[in-house]
Amino acid sequence: MLSVIPNPARIALPIMGTSDFFPVRRVYCVGRNYAAHAREMGKDPDREPPFFFMKPADALQIAPGQAVIDHPYPPQTENYHFEVEMVAALALGGRDIPEASALDHVYGYAVGLDMTRRDVQDEAKRLARPWDLAKAADASAPIGPLYPAASIGHPTHGAITLDVDGTERQRGDLSDMLWSLPEQIAHLSRYFELYPGDLVFTGTPSGVGAVTRGQTMVAAIAGLGDIRLHVV
Ligand code: MN
Repeated sequence: MLSVIPNPARIALPIMGTSDFFPVRRVYCVGRNYAAHAREMGKDPDREPPFFFMKPADALQIAPGQAVIDHPYPPQTENYHFEVEMVAALALGGRDIPEASALDHVYGYAVGLDMTRRDVQDEAKRLARPWDLAKAADASAPIGPLYPAASIGHPTHGAITLDVDGTERQRGDLSDMLWSLPEQIAHLSRYFELYPGDLVFTGTPSGVGAVTRGQTMVAAIAGLGDIRLHVV
């Protein structure tokens, strides 16, 4: 039997300091996971259980870290927002994973961006429609190299920042997450069987805003380096 089309490429993340790679299966994202960001989006952070959406794996844009790469401004938006997020990569899956052992499932961590057509999302919220057109644009999930937990441990605190053209726009601390990564994994695994290769975008601190063509974003997390994107 022959494939009747070229096989779609599987996205793989580089592992920092090696020539190894991490093939990606699914990309889960938690919404409004820092209190100050929940408030800036008009929500009460004390009154919401965690909620999730997905991005397609082929929306990932591999950023090498250090070197500036071109990031394509997507069509159909005039309000394209950055959201810097820590990303966790799972090496083990499962259903109904207990919080206490959830971190045993994590291979490593990276800096990511949950780029969002905010105008499209605002309309989706208003009309009670799905978020896919807002969240799943091509290249809307830039991500840096993976840092193995075996080398760096499991980051639970430390600065998470985003600069645009040298001006700081977002700053938070990983310890400010409303739902910890173990809680996120436990929650997700009650709805889906998780698998090796799944990623979890763990939410963004406050300060989200728009970029335009010609601007350069630098997203950084303590211990995970940074990624640099020139919007074109
Ligand atoms: Mn987000």
